[in-house]
Amino acid sequence: MISESLALLAAAAAAGARWNWWRPVVSGGLPTLMYHKIGDPPPGSTLAKLWVSAADFRRQISYLKEHGYTSITFADWRDAEKGLTTLPEKPVLITFDDGYMNNFELAYPILRESGMKGCVFLVCETMDGHNSWHDPALEPWLKMLTWAMVREMQDCGVIEFGSHTMRHRSLASIPLDEARWELTESKKRLEDKLGREMLGFAYPYGAGAYQPEVRAAALAAGYRFDFSIKQGISRLPWDREKEAVRRLLIRGDDTMVDFHLNMTRGRARL
Ligand SMILES: [Zn+2]
Repeated sequence: MISESLALLAAAAAAGARWNWWRPVVSGGLPTLMYHKIGDPPPGSTLAKLWVSAADFRRQISYLKEHGYTSITFADWRDAEKGLTTLPEKPVLITFDDGYMNNFELAYPILRESGMKGCVFLVCETMDGHNSWHDPALEPWLKMLTWAMVREMQDCGVIEFGSHTMRHRSLASIPLDEARWELTESKKRLEDKLGREMLGFAYPYGAGAYQPEVRAAALAAGYRFDFSIKQGISRLPWDREKEAVRRLLIRGDDTMVDFHLNMTRGRARL
């Protein structure tokens, strides 16, 4: 009996160390999922955790539907802030950073079939090309979305786009005037190309989100919503003056328990 109790205690301690189940449930917030690449990582990739398999992605989208979440876009959120509409009872934002072609090939069909919407942050100068900012020693270069794919996803109302700068540089490590150019030029070019206002901006590497002058530049560029990589769920109504919108990093090695804890506690791991 004693050894059984000890084993149970050890199991509980292990779960406590790995998972965050003991945290209080967050309610009244806007869970904002952050994905990057959908599919299976190429052999030898050192960035496998940033890949979520299509099967896992499908399970996560099913979870959202089964638990009564309604996906919204930046425009839905803007309209609600303006009082033109109200947000659904359990809103969720499904975001993708960088704009990989696998988002079109694998995530878009799943979202479309499920009646869910997502938002993709594009790196303007990599469109129709590859992720040239990235070190191919860590993982081979990947194809990025083409303008034709972006238009198709926009036209059917499944995906809204936002900016992730021109070149995916860290805005915290370049002169402020160059950061301003990354912010304003990408907004202008994407708007010219897509004929829609770019309401959302995500900081590459999350860098600059907590640097007052960089964040001020992002808001001055005209973005209504800016997104960090700080783990958590921002409350609604969102306090724009306080900080950029927090997100939930969805990792390739996450289980559905992790996903559930992210959605309810704002964090799965310690
Ligand atoms: Zn990025």
